[in-house]
Amino acid sequence: MNWLQRLVIGVVPRSWGEAIEAESRTWIVRCSQCGHECSLWDLGGMRWKSTKPTQHYRVRCPQCQQRGRHTLGRAEGPLSS
Ligand SMILES: [Zn+2]
Repeated sequence: MNWLQRLVIGVVPRSWGEAIEAESRTWIVRCSQCGHECSLWDLGGMRWKSTKPTQHYRVRCPQCQQRGRHTLGRAEGPLSS
């Protein structure tokens, strides 16, 4: 967890924290450069009770190290990692 995740998880009830983490893990960020996928949570992001459609993020890809466009989408289920 990064500082922001720790901060949020630290101030909300434990059951909320678990729900936020679980839901954030169902959002998958895919790199447009190399196709690498990882969960939004693993990238340090959070998303809870959001109904917004697919969005685009500019973040550094942990695999190819390119700071480029990433597509955020909902996964079928939580990633195991
Ligand atoms: Zn990449």
